[in-house]
Amino acid sequence: MSGARKEIAVYGKGGIGKSTVCANLAAALAAAGQRVLQIGCDPKHDSTRLLMGGRILPTVLDYLRQVPEDRARLEDVLGTGTLGIGCIEAGGPKPGVGCAGRGIITAFEFLERGHVKERYDTVLYDVLGDVVCGGFAVPIRREYAKAIFLVTSGEFMAIYAANNILRGIRNFDGENGRRVAGIVFNARGLPGEEERVSRFARAAGIPICARIPKSEAFAAAEARGCTVMEMEEYPSVRRIFAELAERIADGLPLYAAGPMEDGELEACVLEGRLPDRTETEKSVKTAETARGPETAAGIREEDRPAARPPLFGCAFTGAATTAVHLTDARVIAHSPRACAFYTWQNISSPGRRNLFHRGILMPSALSPNFSCTEIGQTEAVFGGEEKLRGTVEEAVAERPGAVVVVTSCVSGIIGDSTGGIEELSTPETPVVVLKADGDISGDYMSGIELCLRGLAEKLVDRETAMRPMSVNLIGETGVANDLDVNFEIIRDLLGRMGIGVNCRFLGGATVDEVRGLLAAPLNVLASDGEDNRRLQTWLEQTFGCRFFDRPLPVGFRETKRFLEEIGDRFGCREKAGPVIRDEKKRYEAEIAELRPLLAGKKILMTTINAGMDWLMDAAEDAGMEFVWVGVLNYLGTELCVTERPDRCPIEELDGNTPLEKKIAERKADIVLSNYTSSVTAEGAVTDAIPMGRQVGFRSGIPVLRRWARLLEKRREGEWVRDRALFEKYYA
Ligand code: SF4
Repeated sequence: MSGARKEIAVYGKGGIGKSTVCANLAAALAAAGQRVLQIGCDPKHDSTRLLMGGRILPTVLDYLRQVPEDRARLEDVLGTGTLGIGCIEAGGPKPGVGCAGRGIITAFEFLERGHVKERYDTVLYDVLGDVVCGGFAVPIRREYAKAIFLVTSGEFMAIYAANNILRGIRNFDGENGRRVAGIVFNARGLPGEEERVSRFARAAGIPICARIPKSEAFAAAEARGCTVMEMEEYPSVRRIFAELAERIADGLPLYAAGPMEDGELEACVLEGRLPDRTETEKSVKTAETARGPETAAGIREEDRPAARPPLFGCAFTGAATTAVHLTDARVIAHSPRACAFYTWQNISSPGRRNLFHRGILMPSALSPNFSCTEIGQTEAVFGGEEKLRGTVEEAVAERPGAVVVVTSCVSGIIGDSTGGIEELSTPETPVVVLKADGDISGDYMSGIELCLRGLAEKLVDRETAMRPMSVNLIGETGVANDLDVNFEIIRDLLGRMGIGVNCRFLGGATVDEVRGLLAAPLNVLASDGEDNRRLQTWLEQTFGCRFFDRPLPVGFRETKRFLEEIGDRFGCREKAGPVIRDEKKRYEAEIAELRPLLAGKKILMTTINAGMDWLMDAAEDAGMEFVWVGVLNYLGTELCVTERPDRCPIEELDGNTPLEKKIAERKADIVLSNYTSSVTAEGAVTDAIPMGRQVGFRSGIPVLRRWARLLEKRREGEWVRDRALFEKYYA
């Protein structure tokens, strides 16, 4: 190691004596004329005590907790110890709360802003080596330590910690980086310990730079509140540190980290068998080649995540977005403001879109019952449990139907406990904690599932009285534009048959309605996705719920079948007939109105969707023709676009399918795809397949109306992609 400022990290297991080593080394370096700074990175914050004459410094983190960031000054945390050594303690939270690693990061950021290192020739970082999380590994990042000492005794756990640190260094540096200065062997006076440390050093390929004997000198210095370097009576111990300081000043040779596997380490340290590194490396290489080849992006085929529908986001967002549909509850995000902000946007954007463009009011989306504990830097380091408790207590005092707490990945990472939060429940206001923990618990869909299960487990009353002529709607998609429109349609159709909706789980329900979920003898899935089916199985197994075979129907044919069959289940099939007749009349009248505008028009569709009969039927009823359908089956599952595959040519799409040519050949008037197509042809208009589907007999009617308008505009020569037209016709 050579160059201008020297930055050295001294890592070691807690209690192994690394702070003593570090302080004595700092004193030796200072005695040799160096300007030295020692930064203690142990929540115990006693690293610099011996340098400060026994005085404990205030820590950076405690200071930052009390002083606003813009008023914080480096001088307030920088102590000056013996021989002018600069002393700083990063500090950390109490054991068991918060995140000490995050604390190190916060403290380092503050020190960087103060440019403290620039005042010194040598910086020593005294770091706890038991934990090698990202925070505690900060000092071994390249921008900090240029050399690293491992302090260890001959005890296995101390060597184990040293080996872990080597692993951390290897992760940062790869095989060829050279930053390990060596081992400082701090003897405990145990039999055979020097041999154990020597074997470890040999196997890891690093030297023992200093051997510190068990000596009364340290206890004497401790009692006096100073370093051994300040005590004339222990020359031999002083010489060890002085020599180490001299070697540092001369420029230490540095080595690559050579950590061992756990089994190798045990064999080496405990059984005296040195590992054959060539054999080890060979076996690693064999294991590597046994796996599949990497793709260009560096991903092996077997490491690819399982395919999943394209609705991503974290479990926190999914859970919170769903929980707000509990209309009389208060939902509290235990998260930073940013997480809550993005989730708020996610909840409120369909509400705004629907209100402004379509005149549909979605109260739970426009003004969600959603707040946040605002985890900030202080909570991230010291824990946010108290803040959460206070927020929940305040919410419970307002006596909402329930208080639902949704945890984020930040609260999960800092290890906040939510134990005792549900105990804040009162008879009027149950408190439910959803441990969503952001993306740690999965994606958006996992969050929805977690929320529904959590609420059902905590709220559903198994003794509820039955409502014989009623159904529950299960698994409505909270962010869908058509959420409430669809609910009104289905409520109307079922209502005309004398069947009520008991609970929308969870498209907008009160806490009491969820409590009474089991009152309905039948449940209907809002849509037939994999996630809803999983929820169905869980409700069947957990509560013995019974489910109707069909999800909410889309399109004329499906809706007719749905009403007839549900009529059979409730013994009121005769009531389905008049409803179907009335709806048929209405449907036919609307189709008759559209037919003159649409008959004979040709549609070419590319899609990722199954079950497009609702639209294909409606188009055919209006005299239109599907001339070609390209299916993009990106999930690789069975994808049935239509129950009548003979109605038009259907092909699986790949990247080479010449769409422009197809459109021209088939003389398509409308090009339909999941996203507005960038591929079109002269004279054809493009349209997007609606993301949400309107349930009921008339599902295709709004789409046909839009096509009629688009085709009319095409005739008039207007530019169909114009923004004003977009707002007018697509909204
Ligand atoms: S992934 Fe984590 S940080 Fe990001 S929004 Fe979700 S909870 Fe917040």
